[in-house]
Parts: sequence; structure tokens; C-alpha cells
Amino acid sequence: MQSPHDTLADPIAPSSSAPSPIGPSLWTRRDGLPPLRYHAARIEVGVPLEIVDGVFLLRLPLPFALKHINVYLLPEADGWSVVDTGIDTEASRQVWESVFQLPPFAGRPLRQIVVTHHHPDHIGLAGWLAERCQAPVLMTRGELDVAGRYADPARDVVAERTPLWNEHGLPADVAQGLYRHMPRYGVQVCALPEQVVEIDPTRPLALGDRFWTPVIGQGHSPDHLSLLRDDGQVLIGGDQVLPEITPNIAVWPGGDQNPLRSYLASLQRFEGFDASTLLLPSHRQPTHGIATRVEEIRAHHDERLALLLQACDRPMTGYECLPALFGRALRHEEIGFGLGEAIAHLNFLEGEGWLVSALDGAGCRRFKRTARL
Ligand SMILES: [Zn+2]
Repeated sequence: MQSPHDTLADPIAPSSSAPSPIGPSLWTRRDGLPPLRYHAARIEVGVPLEIVDGVFLLRLPLPFALKHINVYLLPEADGWSVVDTGIDTEASRQVWESVFQLPPFAGRPLRQIVVTHHHPDHIGLAGWLAERCQAPVLMTRGELDVAGRYADPARDVVAERTPLWNEHGLPADVAQGLYRHMPRYGVQVCALPEQVVEIDPTRPLALGDRFWTPVIGQGHSPDHLSLLRDDGQVLIGGDQVLPEITPNIAVWPGGDQNPLRSYLASLQRFEGFDASTLLLPSHRQPTHGIATRVEEIRAHHDERLALLLQACDRPMTGYECLPALFGRALRHEEIGFGLGEAIAHLNFLEGEGWLVSALDGAGCRRFKRTARL
């Protein structure tokens, strides 16, 4: 089962030595940043580990290529709080049931469930935890709105996606295959409680007897929540900045049509951290060196944009650009959000004036390089 809303594991390492034909108008390289330093902890699935004073990392299984998600548990004087919940599977629920029996969580009330964003691996069990523990769910407005729209039983995903995917050249037989295997949001995500507490992004949240400042990001999801501890030494990053893999930045129907621009703008909020701040990501290993990772992610997108510009020396659809963008054949279950990612990069380049697009006779949008290069 593959989530259409999740992070696309990316085996292509960004190359900082790659030439950038786009030039300094897009990205000014920052030199002298410290190297990334991965936390040495050995993390076992299902076993909470105090990764830093007062914050436990709990790794939960995922039934698709990403394999795991990290969620965070913060004990408090009168209970404990969680940030993110895992996807709704029996395996995830069993892990939570075992956590309820372990110190320091056993016998103490779960006080609140904070959700970074609406993707199923993050929000999936929020409704279940809320009901089981009688605890409130807290989310940003934008994430709550999308979660509500996706969970609507009247939602017709095929009708929603067909115009966008047709326009960008996805062959009908490939689309049919994708629709057949597409999991429903409501299968991966428990119904949320009727009342969800809306997070005020301008006010710190009290978690684990500390205050955490919201850092809001766009591009991966519309109103993504990261949390910076009051001493500036710990950042619960969600999917906004990930080590080793890049967050999926894709165009979806009804969403941001230039999410890469939004994402790159959001990264500015993460490039000022010094090497002492520990990034607690939703996937892979906790890491020091957030500013360095931001630089690598910028280099990665810069490289991808350059590859697309090369490919578009003749009019190309988004689907035709997939081999150039990813450098390998995508697995069937990756095609949906791979295409969303291609559209995001093409729309960005068109917005910056590097590409122009027009519909061809078959109604497919074709992008071609402008004379700007
Ligand atoms: Zn996500």
C-alpha cells in the first residue's frame, strides 16, 4: 500500500559540484557550513528512546517504501504529549498499546496530540489516540482544512486528478493502474474528533514542560508545523527538512500550483540554525547541521531544475520529463507523486521565465525552454 501523500525516497544524492545553469538569481551558494553530523543512536522500531533530554523518539512501521516514521513523545509533570502519530495500521496500534505500558508513559494521561501536517503517516492515528486517551488534537488551520477535504466520503479522487494528469501527459492506461491501487485517505487516517484545536502559529506551545515556537512551512504541505524548543537546541522538523531524502514537493489538484517556489521560500526559515541545534526529523536519523542540509536540498532542486531545462529543448509534457528528472524508471507506485513533482519543477521554471508552455492538439501541456539561456 502506497501513500500518494508521502515523501518520495530519493536515491539521487545532491551533487554540490554540479554546475548550475540557472545561476545566482535562483540560489546563492553558501560556503563554510559545518558538515552534517548524524546522531549515533541505534533506533529500534517500536521502542521509545530518549533521544535528547525530555524528548523520546518512537519509530513506527509504515507499509510502503519509506518504511518508518519517527514520532516524538514528551513526558510532562502531569502527563505527556505527542507530536505525530503514525499511519492507521494494526502494527502501529500495537506499538502504541505497548508504549502505554512502558515508563514513563504508563499510568499517566496523554495530554495532547500535536500533528505536523495532514499526510497519513503523521495524522493517521490522531483520531484513534484522541478517542482512546480522551486527549485533544492540535493542528494548524491549513492542515486541518486539507485533512477535512481529503477525508470527505463524497470525495472523488479519480474525477479530481484526471484533468491534471491528462493535461500533463499521463497515459490513460498508466492512470487506470494508479487509480486501481490508490489507497483511500479514510483507510489510512482515522476520523478526527469533531473539535480540533487550531494552533496559533504566533504563540509558543507548551510540550514536555518546555515551550516550543511554531515554525510554519509550505511546499510539502500547505501549513506545515515544525517546533523549535525554547533554548533553540532542538527542532522537531516534521517533513519540512529531512536528512538523506528530500521531501516530496508536488502539485496536486486544488493545491498550491507553484509549491517549489513556496518550499524554497520556506527554507529560509531553517537556514539560520547553527550546528548545535539537533534536527528531530519525521524520517531517518536525527541530525546536527540543519543549515547544511538546507543547502544540500537547495543544491538538489537546483540540479533537478537544470536537468529539466536541458530536457525541454523541445516541447515536453510533465510525464515525458520523468526520466530526465529522476534519472531512473519510477516504480509504478511512485509515478503519481513523481509526476506531481515534475509539474512542480516545470511550473517553477515557467514562473521564473525559463520555460513557456502551451497546450498541444491533444490537450497536453508542453513546456519548452525560452531564449533566456
Ligand atoms: Zn509529509
